[in-house]
Amino acid sequence: MGEDFIYHYRKKRMVLVVDDEEINREILGGILEDHYEVQYASDGEEALEIIKEKGNLLSLVLLDIMMPKMDGFEVIKNMQMDPALRPIPVIVLTSDEELEIDSLKKGAADFIKKPYDVPEKILARVKRIIALFEDRLIIQLTEKDELTNLYDRSYFYEYALLQNRFNPDEKMDAVVFNISHFHMFNEIYGMEEGDKILQVLAKSIEDMAERFGGIAGRSVADIFMLYIPSQKEYDSIHREVEDAIEREFPVHHVRVRIGVYTRPDNNDDKLSICFDRAKTACNSIRENYNKDVAYFDDELREKQIYAERLIHDIRSAISKNQLKVYFQSKYDVTGDIPVITSAEALVRWIHPELGMISPGSFITLFEENGLIHLVDEFVWKESAERVKRWKEEFGITLPVSVNVSRIDLHDPQIKEKLLKIVKDAGITPEDIYLEITESVYEEDTDQMVEVVMELKKAGFVIEMDDFGSGYSSLNMLTTMPFDILKLDMSLMKDIHKDERSRRMLELIIEIAKFLKVKVVAEGVEEKQQVEILKKFNAQVIQGYYFSRPVPPEEFEALLKNKR
Ligand code: C2E
Ligand code: MG
Ligand code: MG
Repeated sequence: MGEDFIYHYRKKRMVLVVDDEEINREILGGILEDHYEVQYASDGEEALEIIKEKGNLLSLVLLDIMMPKMDGFEVIKNMQMDPALRPIPVIVLTSDEELEIDSLKKGAADFIKKPYDVPEKILARVKRIIALFEDRLIIQLTEKDELTNLYDRSYFYEYALLQNRFNPDEKMDAVVFNISHFHMFNEIYGMEEGDKILQVLAKSIEDMAERFGGIAGRSVADIFMLYIPSQKEYDSIHREVEDAIEREFPVHHVRVRIGVYTRPDNNDDKLSICFDRAKTACNSIRENYNKDVAYFDDELREKQIYAERLIHDIRSAISKNQLKVYFQSKYDVTGDIPVITSAEALVRWIHPELGMISPGSFITLFEENGLIHLVDEFVWKESAERVKRWKEEFGITLPVSVNVSRIDLHDPQIKEKLLKIVKDAGITPEDIYLEITESVYEEDTDQMVEVVMELKKAGFVIEMDDFGSGYSSLNMLTTMPFDILKLDMSLMKDIHKDERSRRMLELIIEIAKFLKVKVVAEGVEEKQQVEILKKFNAQVIQGYYFSRPVPPEEFEALLKNKR
């Protein structure tokens, strides 16, 4: 501890005495001056001036109520309105019992009766209030989230527990609020605007907490928590928060999702588990734009149990070889006879009890909890080894496309990992194509682009997967590094039935040509689709029309025939 600290620590606290009668100022000053640095004001206006000037240097205001110009209540009211002055404690000086109660209600911390009591008592009161408020300040600094002034997660849970303790029989709801695609607001309008949206939402949730007699908190980023006595419905609550945001940001179209878990009783599970369930409910409608409120019900419970089972089993599944990499061929259709030019590796889980599980059931789940890299690294290795085997046994070089999850791209070691896999298998990066889903590009952030760029530089071929699904932006096509554009099957769906879809597809293929990237059309099931694609000069086709994803043995039989 340096000198400064000791000086600061020992320095007398500053106290303001406000009274229109000089004799009263003198009495209080006499009691306090040995212990505090005392300032004086003789009416409300003067007091407010000093309070504003000194700000948080002031530790306490001793305030008379009946004064000329501006009375004590007015001073308190002004202080309450200013967030910087609100935390300064006020002790009211009065002889009127009714005014005492009134002033406490209006925000005073305590009162001292006139005529004045023995000095020791007054001194003790002043000391206690200052100590109390300083403690409070320190606690508030740590328990409140800086941006929104709501409780941070751990304090939120503590206060929620307190609430249970004092109202053990009250049926409670754990409620989670989340803004859809919040990162987009940050990206489009800037972080500051994003922060403001969060503040407006937080304020609205805080008001609700107060009204329903509950507690509001911020979990992380754009996830907020509310713990309130159980409500019949949440549609009106949903409307209320969206209205609050729309008033401030009329053009942004912010969508808020709400997930609710109603506790059967207050001891059913740990609070964090209850809020996890509310969050699960909230996430269950992420892609469902017809629903903004979701309840954690039996269906979700079943799903969650299933998900927990998968999470529990995945590590042993990998070590016990339950994951199988299937291959789906991609055909070059530029010549008269379609030829296999590469294949996509698609994972399957052959679970001994649950049967064959398709990746649709677990990829997102493992992305959410970071386990996806286990699956992906397994698939990458398997694929690299197959490529090697085909070279040796069949004398052909057939690149394999592997899927790279957006989560993988956060791994600072990803390039090294991939290079090692390639090297260990004895092949080159050009033998592995990386399919990166379109939403990754959209999500990002320059950092993602940089990672993809690095992978491209290392020699891997980059494919933009699922183009045309979700929120495609054409602008993205020019800023992002990739070699192959993989058209999502939704673009293919109606091309043999509908002229507009056909035109759309043709246009996109034109754009790809202009950008000098190859096109792969995915999800092609019909002969007519193949013909249309050929007419538009698409080079490569992948889909059930040619082949489904098949186990490696079957795929290799196909290769043998080819040879
Ligand atoms: P994707 O990468 O877009 O893969 C194409 C999906 O379309 C595959 O589904 C494939 O079986 C299916 N498909 C191919 N042709 C047709 C067709 O003609 N008609 C129809 N209806 N479907 C077709 P799958 O294997 O169920 O995989 C689903 C998604 O799961 C993949 O979409 C990919 O995003 C993800 N995935 C699969 N394997 C992996 C993996 O090893 N790692 C990661 N991170 N994701 C994977
Ligand atoms: Mg793919
Ligand atoms: Mg795809």
